[in-house]
Amino acid sequence: MAIPENCPLCKASAAKQAVVTSHVYGSDENFSRAFFHCESCDVRYQFPSLTPDEEARFYTAEFESFMANRAGSAGGWQKAEEHIVANELTRQRRMKYIERHLKEGASILEVGCSSGFMLLPFSESGYSCAGVEPSGVFSEFVKGKGLKIYDSLDNLIKSRPNELFDLILHFFVLEHIAQPVDFLKRQLSLLKPGGKIIFEIPNANDPLYSVYDIPAFEHFYWSVAHPWYFSEISTHYLLKKLGLPYELIREQRYDFSNHMVWARDGKPGGMGRFTKTLGEDFEESYKQVLIKTGYCDTLVGIVTKK
Ligand SMILES: [Zn+2]
Repeated sequence: MAIPENCPLCKASAAKQAVVTSHVYGSDENFSRAFFHCESCDVRYQFPSLTPDEEARFYTAEFESFMANRAGSAGGWQKAEEHIVANELTRQRRMKYIERHLKEGASILEVGCSSGFMLLPFSESGYSCAGVEPSGVFSEFVKGKGLKIYDSLDNLIKSRPNELFDLILHFFVLEHIAQPVDFLKRQLSLLKPGGKIIFEIPNANDPLYSVYDIPAFEHFYWSVAHPWYFSEISTHYLLKKLGLPYELIREQRYDFSNHMVWARDGKPGGMGRFTKTLGEDFEESYKQVLIKTGYCDTLVGIVTKK
């Protein structure tokens, strides 16, 4: 197994780097990859890293089928309409922290807008919206609804030079980006003064891994499509590099039912399975406990441009 010479985020020495797992979901079995943990900045990262070609492949058609396999047929990844319905609760959860950052008539850019389930309701409410989506199936669908969608940030900038946004959103994108600091800096350059970047990432302290330590989850979690897994500590490290005010919020996406199905069957897809029996209140308090203790599955970053 190849060993990194230093941490790709904080440059700490090889002595601070330890293997987390060599089970890399979706990886070519003939190619030896692993995830490492940096004791210094607490980031987890894939090594050897993906080549630019490999990285690009995960942003196009391959990514969709990959996600469909992961989410199971109920995820509705293949069809944009189903995807929108399947993600309505996610959208509502996100709106709770996005709403207070929305100014009337704000211009919104979402990087990785998928089926448009976040952007389309914004557009219907009168916000000016643009999206970046490399997946052909989804971008055609959202374009069909009248939104301006570009296959890359480069092409958006080429088509709309000098345009600045009030809000830039991305959800579960940053962990796919080889150079996350550059990625965020580039978005800052596309923001108006006082504008904000709001993003979600998986938390490396996911309870299925850090509390319950479910072997089937470990095999599933560490994905070849992710160069990085950030914890709260490593996200603070990353965001401090921008030198701007920011907030970091804990969120919990998956419920107790999902966790029970992981524990019982070693599979995803259990969301809501036992909610009728246990009650919404129970599911909500379970999520709140995970958020309070920090063993939650999601982190939200909010960065403000001066
Ligand atoms: Zn480090």
